[in-house]
Amino acid sequence: MLSTEFLEAVVGAAERMRSPVILNLAEVHLKYVGMEVIAAAILRRAQTSSVPITLNLDHGLTFDTVVRAVRCGFTSVMFDGSHLPYEENIAQTREITRMCHAVGVSVEAELGAVGGSEGGELMGTIDTAMFTDPAQAEDFVKRTRIDALAVAIGNAHGKYRGVPKLDFARLDDIRAKAGVPLVLHGGSGIPDEDFRKAVALGIAKINFFTGMAQAAIDTLRSAVTSGDVDLKYNAFPDIMLQVQESVAGVVAGQMTIFGSAGKA
Ligand SMILES: [Zn+2]
Repeated sequence: MLSTEFLEAVVGAAERMRSPVILNLAEVHLKYVGMEVIAAAILRRAQTSSVPITLNLDHGLTFDTVVRAVRCGFTSVMFDGSHLPYEENIAQTREITRMCHAVGVSVEAELGAVGGSEGGELMGTIDTAMFTDPAQAEDFVKRTRIDALAVAIGNAHGKYRGVPKLDFARLDDIRAKAGVPLVLHGGSGIPDEDFRKAVALGIAKINFFTGMAQAAIDTLRSAVTSGDVDLKYNAFPDIMLQVQESVAGVVAGQMTIFGSAGKA
């Protein structure tokens, strides 16, 4: 959630589609929006929403940021220790789950490495050597006591080079061994049919950002360059409203594809 336009776009779409929704705030986005400010706005909006809304810290990088998120009322956190050596990832993730579970906050962690980086390079690269190992996933979940596991099965952040190929056999194996709900990061640009298959094979949460940001940029570009809008100062709020509507349209479409529409 980068702004109240995005907040209203996503929650509005969720209400229209009767879909529950998880609102992510990524640690790398904290330079654009204050955690305390946007968390207060999201929690207020959630109180008046007609569908279930939860607030998740995405790619929390340190214990300190996770504590701050818990204090702000986040209902879940994702701790990303995927760049760490395996034993260090376990040690840090376990410390996070101990603290979060004490106050009823659930924890997602990542094993293997999803291509690209959240908020990082534009084109995520995919390295099959970094895919999640099913046997290691089983060990990781047991020892960290996480509630959800983010998997690397050919998915990447940002825009894909060509059409991504997800390793479904691996996903099926991870699901059987990990025993917790699985999370797919890099949810923009995967074919609709593959999303449905991934959900059927245990993906319970899909992180989707790039598609929303692209819709926002496309709308801004056409508003500014089409010549239809007189670009005086008072055009700004109307253009932002158009941005909100275009993002809401993309989100509503994804809720239908993901199968969350009609579940709330
Ligand atoms: Zn991610």
